[in-house]
Amino acid sequence: MKLLVTGGAGFIGSHFIRQWFLVHPDDEIINLDILTYAGRLENLSDVESNPKYRFVKGDICDEKLVAELIEEVDLVVHFAAESHVDRSIESSKDFIRSNVEGTRVLLEAARKKNIPPRFHHVSTDEVFGSLKLDDKKFTELSSYDPRSPYSASKAASDHLARAYFHTYGLPITISNCSNNYGPYQFPEKLIPRFVTNILLDKKLPLYGQGENVRDWIYVIDHVEGIMKVIAQGRIGETYCLGGDNELNNLTIAKEILKLLDKDEAMVEYVADRLGHDLRYAIDYTKARTELNWSPNTTFTEGLKHTTEWYKNNKTWWQSLI
Ligand code: NAD
Repeated sequence: MKLLVTGGAGFIGSHFIRQWFLVHPDDEIINLDILTYAGRLENLSDVESNPKYRFVKGDICDEKLVAELIEEVDLVVHFAAESHVDRSIESSKDFIRSNVEGTRVLLEAARKKNIPPRFHHVSTDEVFGSLKLDDKKFTELSSYDPRSPYSASKAASDHLARAYFHTYGLPITISNCSNNYGPYQFPEKLIPRFVTNILLDKKLPLYGQGENVRDWIYVIDHVEGIMKVIAQGRIGETYCLGGDNELNNLTIAKEILKLLDKDEAMVEYVADRLGHDLRYAIDYTKARTELNWSPNTTFTEGLKHTTEWYKNNKTWWQSLI
C-alpha cells in the first residue's frame, strides 16, 4: 500500500509514520508538509534514509501538487493543521486556510481520482465544545459546539469530510481524539511547556485557577487508535478516542513538579485564556467494542517517559523557546 500522510513532520504525524513503518515495513509513505514553525524534519531523522519514505515540502492548499500526489496513493491520512488554540485566538486566518481550505483541497483531489483513495481525517474532541464537571463524556453522537477559532476550523473540516462521503461516496473515516502528550511535542503546548520551563528554572504559567480538565492520552495510543480505525473502521463513520484520564491543569503541574523534584512555588497563576473551555472528556466505547482499541499507557508511565525525553533532548527544543 502507498500512503499520503499530511503534516507528517508535526508531533502526532511523525509518530504515526514511525509506527506505520514498524507494523507495515513494505508500505510506502509520502509525507506532505509545509514545515510551519511546528513542522520539524528532525522528528523523523530515523526514517529519512528508508527508501520507502519520501518527504515533499509543500502546501495542502496547493491543488496541483495535492492532485499529483493523490494520484500515486491508496490511502490519505490527514494530520496537517494549525493546531494551537492560543495562536488561533491571536489570528484565525492560517487556521481557516490550512484546516478548512486545505482539507477541502485534499478531499476534492481524492474524490476526483479514478479510484478514490481511502481518506482518514484526524480531528479533535474540541469540536464538541465544553462540558460541565458533572456532564456525561462526549461520544460520536454529541452535537458540535466548537468555541475557539481552532475548534471551529476543525469542526468545519469534519463536516466537509462527512459531506464528501454523503455527496460523492468518498470512503472517509474520522477520529476525534482528546489531548495528546509525548516526545516531539512543540513546547508551546501545556505538558512540554511545563517540563521545559522547569528544566530552564522558569515559572509554570497556569491559566486561571488551573481547574480546566482535559482527558490526556499518550501519543502512541492515539496513533494506534488511528491505525485501528484505518484497518477496521466502517466507512463514513466517526470514532472517538480518549485516554480515560481526566486531569485538571493544576494536577498536571503538580505531577510534573514531583517528577522533576521541584515544589509548587514554581506555579504562577496567569490571566485565563479567552473563552477557555472548562472540560473535555471522551467516551470511547465505540472504538473499544468495534475495534478492540483502548489506550495502553498509564499517565504515570507516559509522563515519566515524556519528561525523560525532554531532559535528554535539549537540543531538540532549546532553540524553540
Ligand atoms: P502539529 O502542530 O505538531 O503539526 C502540524 C503539522 O502540519 C506541522 O508539521 C505543520 O508543518 C503541518 N502543516 C500545517 N499547515 C500545513 C499546510 N498548509 N500544508 C502542509 N502542512 C501543513 O500538530 P499535532 O499536534 O501533531 O496535530 C496533528 C493533527 O491532530 C491536527 O489535525 C490536530 O487538529 C489533530 N489533533 C491533535 C491533538 C493534540 O492534542 N495535539 C488532539 C486531537 C487531534
